[in-house]
Formats: sequence, C-alpha cells, structure tokens
Amino acid sequence: MSGGLMLTDGGAGGAARCVRCGAEAAGPCARCEAPVCGDCCVLTEGGARVWAICLRCDARGGRSLRGGWWMVISWIALPILALAAAVALLEWLTRR
Ligand SMILES: [Zn+2]
Ligand SMILES: [Zn+2]
Repeated sequence: MSGGLMLTDGGAGGAARCVRCGAEAAGPCARCEAPVCGDCCVLTEGGARVWAICLRCDARGGRSLRGGWWMVISWIALPILALAAAVALLEWLTRR
C-alpha cells in the first residue's frame, strides 16, 4: 500500500517554489530562508562568500548580511552614549 500523499518538504523532484513569483526556486534566502528564484534575489557580500537574499530582505535592510543591524544599532547607540558622556561630564564639572 503506497500512500498517495506527497510531502512538499524536500521530496524527490519536489522543487521549492519562489515565494515571490512562484517560479522554481534557485535557493533559500540567506536571511529569512524563504525559497527564491534567480530573478527575485540579489547577491550580497557577507564577508568571505557571496550570499543570495530575497528582494524583500534587501529592501528591508541593506545588502550586508550582518552590517545592516549593526549600522542601525550604532546609529542609535552612539548619540545616546555621547549624550550620557556629556551629562556625566557636566555633572562632574558642576560638582567640583
Ligand atoms: Zn521569483
Ligand atoms: Zn529573505
């Protein structure tokens, strides 16, 4: 008795479909791991090797795999740190 059910997950011949256009996927996005075809992904340099990320992830946060978030964090954290340092300096100056 062979079941007629076909699992879409990694079965033989069951190629993954692009999440954007439904074409046969070329590979998973390096960020969200959604299958994307060659037309719906962009290549990005994430250090030593080239990654493919989907256009949605590309639009969301730059082409660098990790640099995007560190840029955001540093842009938020640096002014806060500078402000804290200025406040601490003022407090130290006024206390003398
Ligand atoms: Zn596609
Ligand atoms: Zn993605």
